[in-house]
Amino acid sequence: MRAFLLGTFLILVQGLALADNPARLVIHGGAGTIERSKITPELERQYTEALSRALRAGHAVLAGGGAPVDAVVAAITIMEDSPLFNAGKGAVFTHEGRNELDASIMDGSTRAAGAVASVTTIRNPILAARAVMQRSPHVMMIGAGAEAFAKEAGLELVDPAYFRTEQRWQQLQEAIAGQQVLLDHGGPAQPKDEKRGTVGAVALDAHGNLAAGTSTGGMTNKRWGRVGDSPIIGAGTWADNRSVAVSATGTGEMFIRSAAAHQIASRVMYAGESPADAATHTLEEIAAISGDGGLIVLDAKGNYAMKFNTEGMYRGTIGADGVPWVGIYGEPEKPVAP
Ligand code: ASP
Repeated sequence: MRAFLLGTFLILVQGLALADNPARLVIHGGAGTIERSKITPELERQYTEALSRALRAGHAVLAGGGAPVDAVVAAITIMEDSPLFNAGKGAVFTHEGRNELDASIMDGSTRAAGAVASVTTIRNPILAARAVMQRSPHVMMIGAGAEAFAKEAGLELVDPAYFRTEQRWQQLQEAIAGQQVLLDHGGPAQPKDEKRGTVGAVALDAHGNLAAGTSTGGMTNKRWGRVGDSPIIGAGTWADNRSVAVSATGTGEMFIRSAAAHQIASRVMYAGESPADAATHTLEEIAAISGDGGLIVLDAKGNYAMKFNTEGMYRGTIGADGVPWVGIYGEPEKPVAP
C-alpha cells in the first residue's frame, strides 16, 4: 500500500514538473512560396521527417539539462546536413556558382553572440558561429579569416563541392534566365526567389534561459559578396532572457532595414507586446518596404509564435513532453506520430 501511494505521488510530482517545465524549442526551415500543389506527398514526408528529427535532437539536449545554445546547435546542424534546406549542404548558389554560407547564434542569458559570413568550406557554419561566440573575443568573422579560425577551432572543413545539389544548381540557372528577362524590361536586378529554406531555432530551458540561431546560403543568384540578415545580430537573430529569442527568414535586405529580430525584442520589452503581436507587427513593417518572410519567437515563460506573410513556412515546435509538432503551409500545426 505504501509503495503504491509513493508510486502515485511520484507520478503526480513528475506530471506537475512536466506541466511546470516551460522548456521549448521552436524551429523554422525557411518561408516562401510553398504551394501544396507543387509538393509531392513524398517530399512533404521528407520535410516532416527532417523537421521532427531536428526538434527531437534539440529536445534531447534540453531534457538532458543541456544549454539552450547547444539545443539550437543540435537542431540546426541536422537541417544544415539535410539537402532539403538552404543551409549547409543544399545551400543556394551565388551568381558566380558558389555556395557562400552565413550563420549566427546568440545566448540570451549573457547576450554573447557569434556569427560567420560568406564562408565556403565550413561544413556546419552554426558550429563556427558558436565557436566565434565561445572561443574568440569577437562577434563576427567573414570569409577566409573565419575559415582559418574554424580550422584552428578543429571544425570540419569540406571541399566546396560538398554543398552542391542539382536542384539548387537548376534554381540558379532559372534565376539567371529570369533576371535576364527582368533586366531587359528594366525591372529589379534581384529576382524574387521563390525557393528559400534558411534554417533557424530558438530554445528555452527549464530555468528561463533563451538562445537563438540562424543558418543560410542566402539568396539564389546573390552577387558581389552580398550578405543578408541571417548572420546579422539584431536582424536575423536575437536572444535576451529579459524579452525573447528570435530567428528570421525572408528577404534579408528588408529584415536588416527593419532590425527585425531586435524590433520584436524591443516591442516585447518596452511596449509590452506579446511575442505573437510583436512578430505580426514587425512583419507588417517589413511588408511596408516590400519584404516578406517569417519569424519564430519564444519568451522566457514559453510563449511562442511562428508567423509568416508568405504562403508557407517550414516550421515546428517541441515542449517538455517531447512530442514534435510541424507545419508547412497555413494550416494549424499537426502532431508528428512518434
Ligand atoms: N534571409 C535570408 C537571406 O536574406 C534568406 C532566406 O531566409 O530565405 O540571406
